[in-house]
Amino acid sequence: MSIQTFKNYINGEWVGGDTFENRNPANTDEVVGLFTKGTPADMTAAVEAAGEAQAKWAATNGPARGALLFKVADILEKKFDQLGEEMTREEGKTLPEAKGEVRRAINIFRYFGGEGSRMPGMLVPSERDRVHMFAIRKPIGVCGLVTPWNFPIAIPAWKMAPALIAGNAIVVKPASAAPLSAWRIVEACHEAGIPKGVVNFVAGSGGTLGNALVSAKQLKAISFTGSCEIGNWLHAKASERRLRIQLEMGGKNPTIVLADCDFNSAVENVANAAFFSTGQKCTATSRAIVEDSIYDKFVAALVERTKKLRVGNGMLPGIDIGPAVDEGQLETNLKYIEIGRQEAGEPLVGGHRLTGGDYDKGYFVAPTIFGDVTENMRLAQEEVFGPVLAVMRAKDFADAMRIANNIPFGLSASIQTSNLSRTFEYIYGMEAGLLTVNLPSAGVEYQLPFGGTKDSSFGPKEQGPAAMEFYSDYKTIYLKY
Ligand code: NAP
Repeated sequence: MSIQTFKNYINGEWVGGDTFENRNPANTDEVVGLFTKGTPADMTAAVEAAGEAQAKWAATNGPARGALLFKVADILEKKFDQLGEEMTREEGKTLPEAKGEVRRAINIFRYFGGEGSRMPGMLVPSERDRVHMFAIRKPIGVCGLVTPWNFPIAIPAWKMAPALIAGNAIVVKPASAAPLSAWRIVEACHEAGIPKGVVNFVAGSGGTLGNALVSAKQLKAISFTGSCEIGNWLHAKASERRLRIQLEMGGKNPTIVLADCDFNSAVENVANAAFFSTGQKCTATSRAIVEDSIYDKFVAALVERTKKLRVGNGMLPGIDIGPAVDEGQLETNLKYIEIGRQEAGEPLVGGHRLTGGDYDKGYFVAPTIFGDVTENMRLAQEEVFGPVLAVMRAKDFADAMRIANNIPFGLSASIQTSNLSRTFEYIYGMEAGLLTVNLPSAGVEYQLPFGGTKDSSFGPKEQGPAAMEFYSDYKTIYLKY
């Protein structure tokens, strides 16, 4: 089979150049595609094209912009199976997970397409007679959207759709490890007839393109999802120019397991949140904080459940966990497993790379649990972003909350309990932006705000109605009649 080359998309044209490979992490013999290595000049041209196109796009009425987003959703839906398979091949997650994510991207385009007919502003009574006062929303201008590899279609979708419906023009910079899914959305935007220059796509190394993006004259905002290191760098650069910026970054998310929980469902929820998608969800559970009185029983059941998880190529039926996304992430996982060994002793399960047969072609790691991790260990404080779970003992609920909050991050958290008062104490006391109760810590929907607190996030939330806060501004009008 010949290998397809995917070009960048600038000012409505497909633009080629030198290429880089995107390989399947479950089978590194397979090249998923060749992507064009964007240059800083390409990035500058893309922002300029967006700057040229934006005013006309903003002047198109909201329902008309919405109709184009509905078209994008329809085009993606027609390719539903293909997009799911491509995502599994480029990122490694299992086919059902990939298809679920494609469904989410389609829903996001429909949700924000509908927003084109709402776009609520504000209308309030004036203190003055015969004065009509109201506020309308207006777009910001050109937005740079920088996305990670772990949700390669959902995250680009949840940035692109609200940015576009608000009347902005955009430049998408996808993760080099998984650019194909975002490219497919851009292709759908092209096919749907979104005017040239409104959507631009520049793949290539973030290290090469980042400075050109953040320095481009017409850029007004950056929405970034990825590591704290890059997010903080972008924030410093953006602040020099007072660009609007939104950052969604790392996490070290806890699940608190109390003695009064529904035991079997708590075991399932922790196993799911820690290991599904290979632990590569920003909302994954990486610390299970278990009340002392059920600690031994819970850990034994969790280890048994973990041993049953099937690791392999996500295209195959019955597989629960795919590979790490690339060699770098594989090495990070193995490095933290060694750190865990030194800090907490032998893992209770897992603790090694999987080898032999087809495993040798990919970046597979056995799901790994370390027991009796204590709060100052690196394994309890630093993000791994892989299938490595630290289990920690808590004396009681108050101790569990203290341990859970003793961390610089604050993305998501979960509690497993049947106690209503503790549930509410957790809801009000937990320092995280996304909370679940008797559910896995991961698995969010698009209709409500998404984002964290503390070092995990900065700026307005993404998704749901909150997304419009970042991608639009208010204009306030006082009118005497
Ligand atoms: P990353 O290395 O920070 O990369 C994210 C994006 O930034 C990629 O497109 C990357 O391009 C780009 N980039 C790299 N250097 C850049 C620079 N100097 N200027 C501008 N862009 C630059 O993160 P990742 O490894 O892809 O993703 C994993 C991280 O994302 C984890 O920490 C995870 O917790 C976090 N994450 C957070 C959320 C959330 O909602 N909070 C969601 C998902 C993931 P290249 O790929 O070309 O390097």
